[in-house]
Amino acid sequence: MPELPEVETVRRTLTELIVGKQIESVTVSLPRIIQRPDDIRRFETELMGHHIQAVGRRGKFLLIIMDGLVLVSHLRMEGRYGVYDRSEPAEKHTHVIFHFTDGTDLRYRDVRQFGTMHLFRAGDEFNNKPLMKLGLEPLEESFTVEAFREVMSKRTTKIKPALLNQEYIVGLGNIYVDEALFEAGIHPEHPANTLTEDELHRLHEAIVNTLAHAVEAGGSSIKSYVNGQGEMGMFQHSLKVYGRKGESCVVCGYPIEKTVVGGRGTHFCPACQPLIWTSHDKSKSISRKISGNRKKTSPRGANDGSGVKG
Ligand SMILES: [Zn+2]
Repeated sequence: MPELPEVETVRRTLTELIVGKQIESVTVSLPRIIQRPDDIRRFETELMGHHIQAVGRRGKFLLIIMDGLVLVSHLRMEGRYGVYDRSEPAEKHTHVIFHFTDGTDLRYRDVRQFGTMHLFRAGDEFNNKPLMKLGLEPLEESFTVEAFREVMSKRTTKIKPALLNQEYIVGLGNIYVDEALFEAGIHPEHPANTLTEDELHRLHEAIVNTLAHAVEAGGSSIKSYVNGQGEMGMFQHSLKVYGRKGESCVVCGYPIEKTVVGGRGTHFCPACQPLIWTSHDKSKSISRKISGNRKKTSPRGANDGSGVKG
């Protein structure tokens, strides 16, 4: 599934390919991709004549911004865009085609058919599903340590599902959550609201760095992600834990383990990411460990040092 870096790469590519073009007509051959409006013919006719002004992104959603309209598109598992000359035959699984006045097409292909499109009058997109309840945007200046602390301090769930929840923070999927938690030396099952100040800072920095590097590299191509120009992303070459079960940790050499957290396959280094914390409620003073920890760490010492790679 594309995550924030892949969607950002598609956004940048689409910006180069379609901004400035005018939609002549639209053809929808799989109605269920179109979530709004209900009437597919209305979707097709409302878009006619509009100019593409910009391509934006909110979390993993692409925003195709036109004069007076915004199309919100989610690629889900396998969706992808491509720009073609109209004379080229459409490939199998092409479900939506935007025909431009210059003789080119923007084509949306989706083998799994899970992708969605919502069309809004400009300005309405953030007051409605699916963008309405989205959380912090990790690559924008508004994503400060303070904002991150505010959101995480209220969550009693494990940190991994808290980071995957798009209502708290957007754009992080299974791959980059595993990578960011590894960078920060935090176990994926650590309760979100018991992160120490030091851990919060490390995790905040790790999220920003992991995503920024991935965006620079053009996104990962774990499954079948291809950007709008058919280029595969390159970030898979620098994944440190995801998909490396049994291989040696790049920091300490311990074998990377795979487990399930919140229903998701999860990769981590048990030595670099020990599960140990001290409850903020001192009367209980809970501390826990998992097997596989190589370092013996006292519960009181959990606040500094544990999990720091060195
Ligand atoms: Zn390690």
